Amino acid sequence: MILPHNVSEADFKAAVAEFKALLGEDKVYDKEEDLNLYRDAYSPSWDEEIECVPSLALAPTSTEEVQGIVKIANKYKTPIFPISTGKNLGYGSCAPQNRGEIVIDLKNMNKIIEVNDKRNYCILEPGVSYFELYEYIEKNNLNVMMDMPDPGWGSPVGNALDHGWGYTYGMYRDHFACHCGMEVVLANGEVLRTGMGAMPNAKTFAENKWGYGPSVDGLFAQSNFGIVTKMGFWMQPKPKHYALINLTAPRRDDLIPMVDILNYLEDSFTIGWPLYRSPLNPPHGKAMNEELKGYLTSKGGKPDYEAIQDYALRNKIPYWSVDITIYGSSKEECAAKIKDVQDRMNAAINGCEFKTLEDHDLPLTEEQKKAMKHKVTLGIPNLEIFWLSTRGETIEPEFGHVWFSPIIPRDGRELLKCQEVYIDIFHEMGVPSPITPFAHPRSWMYRAFCFMLGFGNSRVDVEANKKMREVYRRMVQAAAENGWGDYRAAPDFQDDVMGAYSFNNNILRTFCEQLKDSIDPNGILAPGRGGIWPANQRDRRGYRK
Ligand SMILES: Cc1cc2nc3c(=O)[nH]c(=O)nc-3n(C[C@H](O)[C@H](O)[C@H](O)COP(=O)(O)OP(=O)(O)OC[C@H]3O[C@@H](n4cnc5c(N)ncnc54)[C@H](O)[C@@H]3O)c2cc1C
Repeated sequence: MILPHNVSEADFKAAVAEFKALLGEDKVYDKEEDLNLYRDAYSPSWDEEIECVPSLALAPTSTEEVQGIVKIANKYKTPIFPISTGKNLGYGSCAPQNRGEIVIDLKNMNKIIEVNDKRNYCILEPGVSYFELYEYIEKNNLNVMMDMPDPGWGSPVGNALDHGWGYTYGMYRDHFACHCGMEVVLANGEVLRTGMGAMPNAKTFAENKWGYGPSVDGLFAQSNFGIVTKMGFWMQPKPKHYALINLTAPRRDDLIPMVDILNYLEDSFTIGWPLYRSPLNPPHGKAMNEELKGYLTSKGGKPDYEAIQDYALRNKIPYWSVDITIYGSSKEECAAKIKDVQDRMNAAINGCEFKTLEDHDLPLTEEQKKAMKHKVTLGIPNLEIFWLSTRGETIEPEFGHVWFSPIIPRDGRELLKCQEVYIDIFHEMGVPSPITPFAHPRSWMYRAFCFMLGFGNSRVDVEANKKMREVYRRMVQAAAENGWGDYRAAPDFQDDVMGAYSFNNNILRTFCEQLKDSIDPNGILAPGRGGIWPANQRDRRGYRK
């Protein structure tokens, strides 16, 4: 029997009996086959002692039931861990923070409370998925769309609470920044509403963020201060025309002016999301050209940058490619924006080329939707990312991965430097580098880049996982030395990541832990989440190595 940390079998059994009395037997999952579903399918410590396997899962249907759970958890000091739809793959998925914790699965709290397409917001419970919200919008013919992450099976609430990102206009891509108003069950069982919601009968819960006094919403994301039971979000009105263009440039250094121009165009709302790539990477499922592959290690195990550039020019393969979305009220408006992009790029980059990939009046027909390249850029949820990458049909079957997600400046020079730093570290650690001199930036953050990397892991090779975790930790440290900090991480690495935010002797973490001790004195809520440990478990910091 798996038990929560420092909880006796007798106390655990008494707590289970009270949970069953509160929720009914059918909302308390204690059988092994049910609990297996709450293991992290992408765990970097599969089958090791430190793997975050739960002891129990509970599926409440109301805020009152969540309050009841929190009270019982306090009585028996059983740690609990909330998830919304639990699809946080690569960052912990539906597993708890630590082995033996009780998962509070909020999937049954799935009411779409309101979608308003005149004032452009929605209010949702945590169990509402992006697919459900989309279906509701389409069925009711509403003139709004929701920005979403690549796989649409997660939830606006869960995704925003882990600072997730999407694919439309800059500000909408930042899902936590787009939230407005929360309802939260605190660790003592009280219900708090933030912003305007703190006023009974507030009429602008999901429209005006600040209300009066300090804004406390940020405390409930990537943390362990409360269980969010309702959240408002700003939504984007549907555009009337959509275009997707592709831009290519021949040289590695072209990235520098390209990024500067795209920054200007994005920040002035001329373009939507720019998707950077390099055509030097082989298409999914195809092997890299042998000659090119050779140049990745031909200078004493490191890349020969000149030879790679020469190879690209000789073979007429552009070094960089960017797909750029353009929204507008008409075809003419989009055409004017496209011309602006082309004029600026042509003036700065020799040999850049353009293609129009899509150019449609909206709404799209069902056929057009199916054929669309980047469905999420029009708020259409899908799971295509899975056949393009992890566990896809086209690549080696992998078990899973954990994302390493450092934020770097939105600057071409810095990206090129970042490639070199990462390549050096992999070399130093004796591990083949997954980073190449044509690895591209991720551009969801609208004022910064993420230079992300998926560390593959195994279900059969414990030693390989240990080595992977060692390299990951070295990367966190190296990134911090260069001023780059991860924005999100799986539980195995959250102590390391929070540890890197160390200004003034880790005052940020100390401040959070002072708050934790005062509002959750029994330390029952997600201990260690975000690197924040309650006093009674603080000695566990960094126990997962
Ligand atoms: C191939 C692939 C592509 C991906 N692409 C993207 C992407 O484009 N953008 C992106 O952001 N992510 C992406 N992800 C990561 C992930 O799949 C999504 O972010 C997903 O939406 C998160 O799952 P969820 O919405 O079910 O959140 P959950 O798993 O429910 O929640 C995430 C975390 O937030 C906290 N939390 C959740 N609900 C509550 C609550 N009610 N109260 C308090 N705390 C809570 C918990 O700590 C939980 O672990 C990708 C993953 C993969 C594997």
